[in-house]
Order: sequence, then structure tokens, then C-alpha cells
Amino acid sequence: MINKVKGTYDILPEESSRWQNLETTIANVSRLFNFKEIRTPIFEYSELFHRGVGESTDIIKKETYDLTDRADRMLTLRPEGTASIVRSVIENKLYADPNQPLKLYYYGPMFRYERQQKGRYRQFYQFGAEAIGAHSPLVDAEVINFAATFLEALRIKDITLKINSLGDNESKENYRNALINYLKPNVHELCGDCQRRYQENPLRVLDCKVDKNHPVLTEAPKPLDFLTDADRFHFDQVLSALDAIGLEYEIDKSLVRGLDYYTHTVFEIDTDLASLGAQSTLVGGGRYNHLFESLDGPNVPAVGFAFGIERLLLALESIEKEVAAPCIHCFMIALGDDVQESALKIVNELRHGGLICDYDFFNKNLKGKFKQSERLNPIINLIYGTEEMKHNCINVKETKSGVQETVSLDQLYPYILKLIQNQSSGCNGNCSNCDDC
Ligand code: AMP
Repeated sequence: MINKVKGTYDILPEESSRWQNLETTIANVSRLFNFKEIRTPIFEYSELFHRGVGESTDIIKKETYDLTDRADRMLTLRPEGTASIVRSVIENKLYADPNQPLKLYYYGPMFRYERQQKGRYRQFYQFGAEAIGAHSPLVDAEVINFAATFLEALRIKDITLKINSLGDNESKENYRNALINYLKPNVHELCGDCQRRYQENPLRVLDCKVDKNHPVLTEAPKPLDFLTDADRFHFDQVLSALDAIGLEYEIDKSLVRGLDYYTHTVFEIDTDLASLGAQSTLVGGGRYNHLFESLDGPNVPAVGFAFGIERLLLALESIEKEVAAPCIHCFMIALGDDVQESALKIVNELRHGGLICDYDFFNKNLKGKFKQSERLNPIINLIYGTEEMKHNCINVKETKSGVQETVSLDQLYPYILKLIQNQSSGCNGNCSNCDDC
């Protein structure tokens, strides 16, 4: 038997509706903020990620899936979305669009050769957004607000927004020098990877997963203390815009994020939900004002974020348990061989009216049909036998209340629609408050 590749998973039929719901929310909230979808290939020339993500990052050093095609081209399965989006915006000259900032979102699989653990896979999905072409701190706040609104739409509440600023090149250089001086006498106390990072790109030492609680790192200088006045002003403006829209945040002076391209604002939204364990970061993002130039594009500033979809689904598990929604609208229980075709015709008409219906194709006995109905969890069971066929009517049984009514076939569709509406508004058909009562 050939099994799936380590670190991957199948989305089985009973799981796929959870993915579809999430995908619908992505599209809806993106529309609210007027971000448009962009789709780029799953593989790119390796050089894009080496230059875009940064040679010294863990992703490029240890985690990419690299392959050589039959013409000896070096290709890489994308480990993240931003580098590809920037490549596409440069190649298609989208940066020249008169509508600025350009607001794009993407959704799809990413690939990283990581150690498999809960919420961490080798093929995983990200939903990300990028606002391209504006220096304004209001755009940093817009992007953060977009991420927070998306979580609100999913009803994920136990969240903390953590924010920090690295500043632009001058601040980053000042900080880099201070960090090198600080680490020089201490670096031997840190792990082997950190010693290498110290040589290649000292800032990367700060996101070491092994030594993150080591005093050498916790007591290290912090980027915020090295911001130029202009960069500090930008950060203050971002915070003030977040205050204005009422988004709570925590300034996390140690937050640097794992990618080289960030400048100015970096942020993460974490959750306290126990279901996520150590993988509590739902979304990470920040501003990247020089990535376009380093990929041979024009000087275009940008800011974005990326959500991990598997973690969102884990976070949603506990919320979904509270509201086990019915799966389908109607299940047809047709009794007797001579009514089967007529019952199929009724089901077909309801489906054409937009109702989700299912049917017993095995002609089970009554007990078997009700068992199947329980599994499908419909709002309504339709019970139809020879007597009902003779009188052009059908029995409609609400599964939640157990209330059953005989309804004439020509009234069936509006009757079911009203029942469904009442259920979703919480009305029992006798509330005298809603439009129908
Ligand atoms: P990053 O691109 O590393 O900034 O990560 C952005 C988000 O993607 C993280 O907050 C995670 O939720 C998610 N993520 C990153 N790596 C993985 C992975 N290997 N498996 C699942 N989700 C991941």
C-alpha cells in the first residue's frame, strides 16, 4: 500500500465543508476590505525565494522543497506567498495601477520541510493579504484590522494582537550593530544554529526556537530602542490608528518574525485556545518596504499578513462544537416501491428551489431510513407513502421539535422555506414578534 507523504494529510468528505466555510469567509471579509484575489503558481525559480525570503532564514536554510526539472532549472515549491506576489506584481506591472494601494489576497498550499507536530505540516495552507504602494501608517492599521476582522467573522475571540517595530534600514543597521556588540561575548552560550546565525544575520538569533528563553536572548537589546525619530513616528501613528478603531494590542519588544524582509511594523495574533498547544500564532505579518527593490522591481512599499489555515481550523473546533448546525434541509422517507419515482420528483423540485435534499437509494425499512436521517441531520424529514401520493400531500416532520404536519404538495416549497426561516431566526412559528407571526 502506498501511503500519503509524511507531513501531508487528506481533506476527507466530512471535513471539506469546514474548509469551504472558511474559504467563504475569506472571500467575504476580503470583499469588505476591497482586497482582490491573486493566484500565482505553486512553484517558482528557486532564486526568487533565496533572494526574497532571505538566505539566512530557517525556511531557506532547512525547509524548502527544491527540485531540478528536466531542463536543469532550479525550482522551489513555494514556502510562503509574499515573494511570489511581489514577483507577479513586478512582472505584470501591477504597481502602476492608478488605484493605490493595490490590495491583494491569496489562498493556497505552501510547502516547508519542517518537523511534523500538531498544527505544523509539510504541505499547509495560508490565506494572506498584501497592501502594496503606500507608506501611510494607516495602511499598516488597515491590514491589521483586516486580520482581526477576519478572526471576528470566524467568532474566534480569545486573541492577543502583539505588535513591534524594527524600523527602516537605518534603524535596523543601528540595532544590528548594537546586537552584534552585545552578543559577541555571550554567543558561545547559545545553540549551534545561533552561532551560525550570529555570523550570517544576527537578527535571526532572536527567533531561535531552542534558546528563546535563554537570558542571553531575553536580556538582549530591543529594536524599539534603536528607532530613528521618523521610524518611531511611523510606529506611533500605527498605534494611534489602532486606538482609533478600538483594536487592543500589546507591544512585544522581542517580536521580530522569521523572515528577513520586514521593516517597520511587525505583528502577530495569538490565541489562548488550548486546542492549539504550542502553535498559538494564528497570523503573522508586517511591512516590507524594500522587497520589491531586492527582486529588481521599483521602490514600492508594502505591508501584509499570512494566516495558517490548519491552525484556524483547530481553533474553530471548540467553537463549532457549541453549534452543531444541521447538515441538510430535507431528507425524503419514501415508503413503498410505487411512490419512489414520485418522491424523487418532489426532491428534484425542492433542489431546484435551492434546498439541500437527500434520499434513501437502498429502499431500507422504516427504521433504517430514520437511522440514515439521524446521521444526515436534516432540518426536516419528508414522509411520503401511497396514501399521501393518492391525496397529493406529504408529511413534514421537523426533526428538532418532532412536530409533524400534513401539507399539500403545491404548498410544500413555501411551507418548508418558512420553517427554515423561522428556525434560523429562533421563532417557533408563534412568537408574534417576527414578520411572519
Ligand atoms: P510565516 O509565513 O512563517 O510568517 O507563518 C504564517 C502563519 O502560517 C503562521 O502563523 C502559522 O499559522 C502558519 N504556518 C507556518 N508554518 C506552518 C506549517 N509548517 N504548518 C502549518 N501552518 C504553518
